Amino acid sequence: MRHMAIVRNIVILTGAGISAESGLRTFRAEDGLWEDHPVEQVATPEGFRRDSALVQRFYDERRANVLAAQPNAAHLALGQLDREWQGQLLIVTQNIDDLHERAGAGRALHMHGEALSVWCIACDARHRWEETLRDGPPCPSCGKAALRPDIVWFGEMPYRMDEIYAALSRADLFVSIGTSGAVYPAAGFVQEATRCGARTLELNLERSLGSGMFDETRLGPASELVPAWVAEMLGGD
Ligand SMILES: [Zn+2]
Repeated sequence: MRHMAIVRNIVILTGAGISAESGLRTFRAEDGLWEDHPVEQVATPEGFRRDSALVQRFYDERRANVLAAQPNAAHLALGQLDREWQGQLLIVTQNIDDLHERAGAGRALHMHGEALSVWCIACDARHRWEETLRDGPPCPSCGKAALRPDIVWFGEMPYRMDEIYAALSRADLFVSIGTSGAVYPAAGFVQEATRCGARTLELNLERSLGSGMFDETRLGPASELVPAWVAEMLGGD
């Protein structure tokens, strides 16, 4: 890659493709399904109001799958980069699993929420949660049975967007890993990074809807492309 010596500040966006190799399936934009459920049913506030039991069971399963999954070589490489990179680094993930954290990345930002977090709609508290919600357990803070998955559903505002755009405005390099480029606002990050003067690199299994907007696209499994790219970055040139 050109000009690597001047790269100080990096923003990385990760999506379903990086966790797929750990056995986690996620939302597929092209057919509007998540684990074979229509997204309107399991990933909207309306769906939760209509059938909260179904939605709680759905995320109980996601939570169990996340706990059973292990970080793969791509997560581990980003964990190493996060520990060793001297400049600024922000890993923005669309994924709700905690595989970045378990791979040692302390700076992961979950823009779409987390499977292992619950949000109390009565008192607004958030708690780490590894159990089920289907039986309506009480909120540890207020005691009300008002816990919902701490997941950003369609029609809701992704978390910490101000922080993400601030990091993009300072970035020298924006790297998108394993995302379809189909779900906004994340799909627009490449244009924002370009507008702010960053170089842009896509690492993906196949060309995405947004591939044409990147300076460079590398195709292959994340578990191969990401460790190779991290080695380049930490190798100095
Ligand atoms: Zn509460």
